[in-house]
Amino acid sequence: MDFRTISPQTTEELLEAIKQNQGKHFRFGAGYTDLIPELEMQMENGLIVINLAKLKDSNFTSIFLSEDGIRIGALTTMTDVLSNKHLQKFPVLIEAVESFASVQIRSVATVGGNLCTASPAGDVSCALVALGAVSEILIANGQIRTVPLTEFFTGVKTTVLKKNELLRSVLIPHQKSAERILSGFIKIGNRNSMEIALASLAYHITTDKNGIITSAGTAVGSVAETIRYTESACEFLLGKNMDQLSEEDKETFADNVLKYANPISDIRASAWYRHQVLWNISKSIL
Ligand SMILES: Cc1cc2nc3c(=O)[nH]c(=O)nc-3n(C[C@H](O)[C@H](O)[C@H](O)COP(=O)(O)OP(=O)(O)OC[C@H]3O[C@@H](n4cnc5c(N)ncnc54)[C@H](O)[C@@H]3O)c2cc1C
Repeated sequence: MDFRTISPQTTEELLEAIKQNQGKHFRFGAGYTDLIPELEMQMENGLIVINLAKLKDSNFTSIFLSEDGIRIGALTTMTDVLSNKHLQKFPVLIEAVESFASVQIRSVATVGGNLCTASPAGDVSCALVALGAVSEILIANGQIRTVPLTEFFTGVKTTVLKKNELLRSVLIPHQKSAERILSGFIKIGNRNSMEIALASLAYHITTDKNGIITSAGTAVGSVAETIRYTESACEFLLGKNMDQLSEEDKETFADNVLKYANPISDIRASAWYRHQVLWNISKSIL
């Protein structure tokens, strides 16, 4: 494959590489599990790859607890997420990683790559949207701007990132203290492993000691142009008693989730099937 690679080791070198190449055609590379297959399909002439894999900046490479939440560096891998003690309290994220590809792919595929590739089927991206995470974007002038992940994806394979920007980290803000957590990731595919979702649902719902739902985050994957936060479904749940939800409540919740789905029919499943399966899994989580 014919492209030139630049491998910055410090953030200063990275910012300089971005500035120097503004007028040229460049892409970032992290774990390369999306980029290489993409370039194999269609090589881009004169491409420069700014390789992030050698970068030694803990803001990019670590997962750590901070005052405002848990910060996940864009270059942390799926394996790093699975083994991190702070992230175990988010089953939605852990299950999304467990459903992800193979052990080998997980050890190189990065969280940042999953978000920036902006696939509607991005499993970890879907879980992070449900968790209300916020992207932290590094601009070539050294400043950081933040964008909630609910607004990060602008279309199939497109994001809010500008040419002089890259994703540095994502922040999962501290959650309200909860008595009970209902959190998980459901991925429907045609096979049990190495599967791209036909439809997926990420959910993270908390209650107080009386069973009252105090926070709700749900997101859907593979059923629209982008991963979507199902806001009205979340709002519907707030304030209700988790243990006293009627059949009608569960169906209204599922109807609300479906409002965010606009699936296509393709070789793997029809739009009708994706709708049905999404409605069923949405109802089933409550
Ligand atoms: C066999 C196989 C199975 C897979 N299974 C799954 C699966 O089950 N679920 C799933 O969600 N995905 C799956 N994927 C897709 C892929 O592994 C993930 O999307 C992965 O997280 C991408 O991360 P990466 O580090 O490899 O990204 P890369 O390939 O390095 O980059 C992907 C894109 O993001 C950009 N990018 C990377 N990092 C940054 C950054 N910090 N800032 C700005 N732009 C950046 C790159 O320029 C590129 O456009 C699979 C891929 C393969 C090959």
